[in-house]
Amino acid sequence: MDTEKLIIIGSGPAGHTAAIYAARAELKPLMIEGRTPGGQLMLTTEVENFPGFPKGMMGPEMMMQFKEQSLRFETRIESDDVTSVDFSVHPFVVKTAEKTYQAESVIVATGASAMWIGVPGEKEYSGRGVSACATCDGFFFKGKNIVVVGGGDSAMEEANFLTKFATKVTVLVRKDTLRASKIMQERAKKNPKIEFIWNTEVKEVLGDGAKITALKIFNNQTNETSEFPTEGLFVAIGHKPNTDIFKGQLELDGKGYVVVQPGTTRTNIDGVFAAGDVADHVYRQAITAAGTGCMAALEAERWLAARE
Ligand code: NDP
Repeated sequence: MDTEKLIIIGSGPAGHTAAIYAARAELKPLMIEGRTPGGQLMLTTEVENFPGFPKGMMGPEMMMQFKEQSLRFETRIESDDVTSVDFSVHPFVVKTAEKTYQAESVIVATGASAMWIGVPGEKEYSGRGVSACATCDGFFFKGKNIVVVGGGDSAMEEANFLTKFATKVTVLVRKDTLRASKIMQERAKKNPKIEFIWNTEVKEVLGDGAKITALKIFNNQTNETSEFPTEGLFVAIGHKPNTDIFKGQLELDGKGYVVVQPGTTRTNIDGVFAAGDVADHVYRQAITAAGTGCMAALEAERWLAARE
């Protein structure tokens, strides 16, 4: 088996930026992009805050351009999911369902995924009125009354986007304040189709067996429980890092994010670097992911050069 110089696991802004830099440094990187490539920008609408795109760009289109740029410099891309890694041996071992690879260095850029509330009915009605992706599913809610849960930028973005289709969007917020940035809050508050209900938690998703019909909601100030009729529920309450395959292999923090040495992308394993949302619960932006992807490639390049 050939040993790769560098394997990049993941294909969001961090993975592709790492690939572009590593390929231009002639490391001939192999990217394992996963079965659902492109990361979270594939699930977003317009990206307005990525410098260099003054008119904005749709997230999936931006990811296609990232990929095109990686391929231009001859990154090799495999579309499998990584199922396990062994970082206790060197060369490192990276396995997919089909193949086993060896690598001198690895960049972990597996990102993060949407979180679910974890109440009864949520899983049961997933895809039957319950969703975590307005871009994917918004179209199915034309002329309907729907609910968005969450108080961050994601919730505001989803709520605004969903007003293109829905008659009314009710945002349920568990506190009496929003965590979202001021500009996103204002946009949502000004939208006549959006209404906020504060201090309110979802306790159960109710349905008729085929589709969602209502939510059991709880006001944490008055302790009242009631039923709120709705035809759709969009969950937008944050994300969790995709690190299951690295448990026991890399040092993870209490929330499951990969721990990197401050100011670097170095993990606790020499030769393994982490970039993007998988190691960042603070900024979680496409641009910061791209920035750390660049750092990881430069660090991998220097680490490999020092070994030679
Ligand atoms: P955040 O972690 O910022 O916000 C999560 C929200 O969900 C909070 O309001 C939180 O409430 C609420 N929440 C968490 N768990 C529950 C629960 N079980 N039930 C009800 N509510 C819950 O996540 P986001 O995904 O919104 O944003 C992540 C990052 O991505 C941020 O940095 C954001 O700025 C960025 N982003 C930027 C966008 C843009 O610029 N266009 C678009 C989307 C995201 P509480 O406040 O009570 O904890």
